[in-house]
Formats: sequence, structure tokens, C-alpha cells
Amino acid sequence: MTRLILAIDQGTTSTRAIAFEVSPSGSFSAVAVSQIELVQHFPRSGWVEHDAAEIWRATLQTCREVVRKAGGVDRFAAVGITNQRETSVLWDAATGEPLHRAIVWQDRRTSDVTTRLAAEGHEAMVQGATGLILDPYFSASKYAWLLDAVPGARERAARGEVKLGTIDAWLIWKLTGGKSHVTDATNASRTSLMDLSTLQWREDLCDLFKVPMAALPEIRGCADHLGDCDASLLGRALPIHGSAGDQQAALVGHGALAAGDAKITYGTGAFLVANVGEAPVASTSRLLGTLGYAADGQVAYALEGSIFSAGSAIQWLRDGLKVISDSRQSEAVAQTLKDNGGVYLVPGFTGLGAPWWKPEARGTVIGLTRDSGPAHFVRAALESLAYQTRDLLDALKKDGAPPLTRLKVDGGVTANAFAMQFIADICEVEVERPAFQEMTAMGAARLAAFGVGLTGELWTAPLEAPAVWRPRMDEAERARLLKGWRGAVKAAIIAAGGDET
Ligand code: ADP
Repeated sequence: MTRLILAIDQGTTSTRAIAFEVSPSGSFSAVAVSQIELVQHFPRSGWVEHDAAEIWRATLQTCREVVRKAGGVDRFAAVGITNQRETSVLWDAATGEPLHRAIVWQDRRTSDVTTRLAAEGHEAMVQGATGLILDPYFSASKYAWLLDAVPGARERAARGEVKLGTIDAWLIWKLTGGKSHVTDATNASRTSLMDLSTLQWREDLCDLFKVPMAALPEIRGCADHLGDCDASLLGRALPIHGSAGDQQAALVGHGALAAGDAKITYGTGAFLVANVGEAPVASTSRLLGTLGYAADGQVAYALEGSIFSAGSAIQWLRDGLKVISDSRQSEAVAQTLKDNGGVYLVPGFTGLGAPWWKPEARGTVIGLTRDSGPAHFVRAALESLAYQTRDLLDALKKDGAPPLTRLKVDGGVTANAFAMQFIADICEVEVERPAFQEMTAMGAARLAAFGVGLTGELWTAPLEAPAVWRPRMDEAERARLLKGWRGAVKAAIIAAGGDET
């Protein structure tokens, strides 16, 4: 029986392999897991690096362990990959060794490049072509930095002797023993080099960022055959049949496949990806235009927005303010109050993300009275998750995205039922939390199972019913709370010396 899929989830802090069993009716269950933490390197302020060789070793080790735990490689039908996006690798085609440490998505070392390109007036063209703003977050300026930092790399790139790629491309190269230099279209959509309409590299963008096209991987669909594993690695030439960047894989994992479906992952930060349908939507609210997925001849575009501080606000209550001793306590403490008492917390600890984009903003609390106590801070922190989500959903609406049908949620914070109900109330949307939470790995597994023909559909509803929260707050109360929140955001922006827009 070859009904297992090997899903590789290569994240920022760890590398995991999960074996999913696919039932004949198309339901997925995780049967084995292996995980290895990843060392973070911070060589200078604002620089973040990973050792790509370490990532590869951990991938191989976790895959081998999961294959063994799940009863051997013959039980597996295919491999699916999901990964931290934008992180950039340069390697030697002949030896398969990295030529420099990988530059991680958080790394800001190339901000001078993107600032200069913006000052030269290139942002409208880049955003029009790729959906992305000019920012060092994306791979293009990282690729160019690597080529300049490694002696001889530029000349060798032109001769095809060195290769560039995001983590998916790196892992596929290693898994196939150097036979496939490919990437999937969702990962490619995060480089600033791919045309979002044609899903191909663009020569003018490659020239602008000084990245030779010859060094880039070929772009494929998310459920395409991406190569076969070298038989010596896992004992059999398993086909690699699915790949998507982490947030996009979660979109597929949640089954947010129709226009108007959206998912948001509430972890340390929160990441919204909203499916906008078959054509890209250009954002005027500084959301990012990106690819949702491309599989089976179908293409779904998405808009993406990030909240910098979500679960981290709860961590701050615990570790900074010390008003709770465990994140879980926040739910009971917030509910000791009948309402927020007019206290709002804007968790701008590291600035405000979409749609405000105020990196200089800082955390702000307003509305304190002599009655305010620790519970007000806890409640205000949990409520801020909902207000920030509402701001993103309003931005989506302003951009003309299809009306939201349901908000599918995952991540550590979703254990908090008070916060989930409050999100439903403030955002006026049904909030749905699946019983199985590993949506990123699940998305990679679903793409691979579909790609290899194990399932006939990309997504079928899981057997176990999700938890659902429906809006039940009255309109006047919602309007009053949102007015308070907007005042608080304004105060945060003014306090940081910004305009009160
Ligand atoms: P990440 O993948 O970013 O590490 P996780 O999805 O593991 O994040 O979620 C961890 C975050 O969830 C932490 O910031 C933690 O404070 C928060 N969290 C965990 N449980 C709860 C809870 N019951 N209520 C509120 N926040 C919670």
C-alpha cells in the first residue's frame, strides 16, 4: 500500500518531516513526525543567516526517521515540500555545496538597494509586475548581494556554474542529486523577479536587480512533477510532486481555494492570505499581491497582509509585564472583566505593519483610569488581535477583493476561544478553526497527493468538524469599540512623530 505522503516543512526555526496517510476517501492523517531545530546566525545588526548545508542535513535526517517510523519507503507515494519563503541560497552546481550562508527573509542588509530603487522611481513598475513593494524582504536583492559577496560568482553564474534559489529549490536540487533546478510558482512570486500574470521570470526585473536569469531555477506549478529523489537517499526514487511557500501551503491546507476564502495564521505575528480568484488584484492599501497556488491548470491569486505582533503581545504580558504566568491564562483573566473599560493596547512593539506601515510606531496604551488593572492589559492585548485583523480585512475590501466568506484560522493563539469569538464579532465574519492544526505541512501533502494522483481533488473536507465562531455583537457596540481602536492607532502614530492619517 503506497498511501503515504512525505511532507517536508522547512521553517525559520526548525525543519520537520511528517508522514501523512491518505485514506481512500481522501482524508489525511499524520502518522509520524520528526523535527530538528535550526541554528540562527546574526553576524551583524539586522543580518540573519542560516547554514543551507545544515538545513539539507536536517531535512535528510528527519525524512529518513519518518520513513523508518512509518514502516519503510515502499509505503510512500510522493514527497511534498513547504518552506520559509524568500530565504536565498547560492550554491556550486558541480559540488552541490553552498557558497555562502543563506540570507534569511528577516535580513535587512540590502535595504540600501531597495531604497535606492524606490528613489529612482522603480516601485510602480515592480509592484505592477510582481505585486510586491520594494523591500529587502524579497529575494532579488539578496541574490544580487550573494553574487557580489562571493568572489567570481557573477562570472560563474553566467556560465551556469553556480545556482540560485529559495529553500524549496535548494532542497529539490539536493533531493534529486543535482538533477532538478526548479522552483514552484508561489516561491518564485516572492523574489520580485517573477511576472505575476505570466508566472515567468522577467528579463527587465532581473536586469534591474542584477540577477542573471541563467542562475535561476525553472518555474513550475505547485503540484507538478518536480523531480525524483536520488534512490540512494531514502532507498527509492520517490517523486517530488508538490511544493509551495509556507503561507500559500497553509492556504491549500485550509482548503481556502475559492475567491473570498481567506486564512490567517496567528503565531508570534499573524499572516493573512486572502484568495482573490483567477486574476491578480493590484493593492492600493499596501497589501502584497501574490500567487495563492497554481495546480492542475488552475491559478488562484491572493492578497497578503501581516500583523507584526500577535502572539508576541501575549508573550509580553507573560514575560515583560508578568501579569500572567502562562499564555493560556490570558483567556480567563480577560473574562474577569465585562468589557475593556475603554483601555486599548496598540502592540506596535516593532512598528505597525499593513495597512498602516509605520515602522517607527511603538506600543501604545490609551484610556487608563484609576480602575484599570492587570486584567485590562490582558483584555486589551487579546482584543488588539481582532482590531488588527479588522484593519487588514478593511484594506482587502478597499482593494476590491471579493467579499470574504469565512476566515480560516490556525496557529498557537487560536487555542484562545475568547479571542476567536472577539475576532468574529469585530470582523463580522465566521471564524473557523480546523481540528488538525498543521496546515502548512498539510498543504504540501495535499499538493503532492493530488499531483501524484493519489487524490482526485486538491482538497476535501476533513472528517473531524472544525470549531466555528459566529458574529453575535450588536452593531452599536462594534462601532463604539472600533472608534476607540482607531483613536488608539492615531495616538500611536502621533506619539511616534507621524501624521495622524
Ligand atoms: P510561532 O509559529 O510563531 O512560533 P505558534 O503558532 O507556535 O507561533 O504560537 C505561539 C504563540 O501563541 C505565542 O506567542 C503564544 O504567546 C501564543 N499563545 C499560545 N497559547 C495561547 C492562548 N491560549 N492564548 C493566547 N495566546 C496564546
